[in-house]
Amino acid sequence: MNGSCNCSAVSFVVNAKINGLYQCHCKLCQKQSGSTSNTAVIVPSSTFTWVSGQDSISRWEKDSGFTSHFCKICGCPVPNKLKGTDFYWIPMGLVSNFEVSVTTHICCHSKASWDVIPKTGEHFEGMPEDLDSFISGFQNGEV
Ligand SMILES: [Zn+2]
Ligand SMILES: [Zn+2]
Repeated sequence: MNGSCNCSAVSFVVNAKINGLYQCHCKLCQKQSGSTSNTAVIVPSSTFTWVSGQDSISRWEKDSGFTSHFCKICGCPVPNKLKGTDFYWIPMGLVSNFEVSVTTHICCHSKASWDVIPKTGEHFEGMPEDLDSFISGFQNGEV
């Protein structure tokens, strides 16, 4: 799958078999996305390739470790490598022509009062306790 930011400066390709997507409804993701949540998937680094624009990326990191990487021209969130792991976080709004559904909702207890989370799929009140299996659970090898 291919992705790019609004101004197209930052673009990338992912060659992973994706089983599902997740939405994080925490307060940080609400502000970062400007909406209810971030919709994302996590893929192995070996399946991720930058096509353009790495020099157009700015970074912000909170003391807690939450990181936000974004295009410094148009402001879109862009993929980033999860610290201490061999995985990339992919914001799905950047990806075109992709047909897998959201299967998991996390940090549901932090949701905005106007956010209606569908009953379908798996739900976590906070972060999943088993982060390793959460991180590796959305894909199944290379395409
Ligand atoms: Zn951009
Ligand atoms: Zn979040």
